[in-house]
Amino acid sequence: MAKVVCVLYDDPIDGFPQSYARDDLPKIDRYPGGQTLPTPKAIDFQPGTLLGSVSGELGLRKYLESLGHTLVVTSDKDGADSVLERELHDAEIVISQPFWPAYLTAERIAKAPKLKLALTAGIGSDHVDLQAAIDSGVTVAEVTYCNSISVAEHVVMMILGLVRNYIPSHQWVVKGGWNIADCVTRSYDVEGMHVGTVAAGRIGLAVLRRLKPFDMHLHYYDRHRLPAEIERELNLHWHPTVEDMVKVCDVVTLNCPLHPETEHMINEPMLKLFKRGAYLVNTARGKLCDRDAIARALEAGQLAGYAGDVWFPQPAPKDHPWRAMPHHGMTPHISGTSLSAQTRYAAGVREILECWFEKRPIRDEYLIVDGGRLAGAGAHSYSAGNATGGSEEAAKFRKAG
Ligand code: NDP
Repeated sequence: MAKVVCVLYDDPIDGFPQSYARDDLPKIDRYPGGQTLPTPKAIDFQPGTLLGSVSGELGLRKYLESLGHTLVVTSDKDGADSVLERELHDAEIVISQPFWPAYLTAERIAKAPKLKLALTAGIGSDHVDLQAAIDSGVTVAEVTYCNSISVAEHVVMMILGLVRNYIPSHQWVVKGGWNIADCVTRSYDVEGMHVGTVAAGRIGLAVLRRLKPFDMHLHYYDRHRLPAEIERELNLHWHPTVEDMVKVCDVVTLNCPLHPETEHMINEPMLKLFKRGAYLVNTARGKLCDRDAIARALEAGQLAGYAGDVWFPQPAPKDHPWRAMPHHGMTPHISGTSLSAQTRYAAGVREILECWFEKRPIRDEYLIVDGGRLAGAGAHSYSAGNATGGSEEAAKFRKAG
């Protein structure tokens, strides 16, 4: 029988919800492009409820215990004395979410000799040292597409929020003011602006599609070019390098995975190529950017605004400079964990576990590493190597209280 360790974020501070703002979720059968939503044989949760926090348990306890497996659920994931670290020695499966990542470094993988499956309840498995997983024969899988549209919606919201100066304007109202001039001295229209995405995968393309009706000029950089008919349909301008694209964009959004090729892609020299007053929205991964270079670019006015929900490490220590830098619209890592998204990724985790325990193949599109090599979606979008360096800093969040 297997021991499954599941690392989830904490419950709400005022307790696990007893009721919800809405009674149902829209019914969606397929993702754009035709991929089916998760197809587990059964689920043991109510769609639209909080599944991603500790008490929600991704709806897995009944299923796993009925098969005789052990399920340990914890939010205590950082530091040598954490529950995760203590439970690793005989864990066969570790499940975690990018929002509250169980960093599976090479050291931790070495401490888990029985580990066979690192399962990401969401998308993005950079919190696992993929090189160590390759070398140790650990399978890494994620629930591809489960929250790509959730994130695309968030990107559009953040672009509009920054360009139109929404958050500071809202704060004037809360403070009791009516300071129209204060609000609008940083407020513009997106119409006619040039927006570019680094990567036009599931999220990047969905962002472009959603921005088209705003009459923005659309640009992208990706290693693989989109089909010509999509470029024509959206009037897309492809750039051969990131450098080439950022020079002409008023708004840049990052939508590629974090792996050794993309780590710190947006650094001081790259930011110097941006138009003065550009906006940068990053809901992909914090480490795609050089943390301090972003803060300096905002202070100097090179960037007019920065927004996103991804940090490094996570949770971000209280003294992380992105909490205090000017003109930012940061949130904790939430864009891919709306209640709608949780329903899909909890079902996807269940599907993957059913396949695992029944010795059926996991869908190819869910695989990142398998059989000692990058596989499935991982072979297409990642490069081998490790992007977890520095993740031990996450322990500072709890230590600081
Ligand atoms: P996809 O796999 O559909 O898209 C990723 C794209 O990134 C692919 O088109 C890939 O290009 C491209 N890419 C990979 N490496 C590079 C590179 N070096 N330069 C440029 N492009 C590159 O994934 P999604 O769109 O669904 O998700 C993208 C990322 O967004 C995830 O990996 C994750 O990090 C993040 N994410 C964040 C969430 C959140 O809650 N904030 C939730 C979900 C995802 P190609 O395949 O052509 O090489």
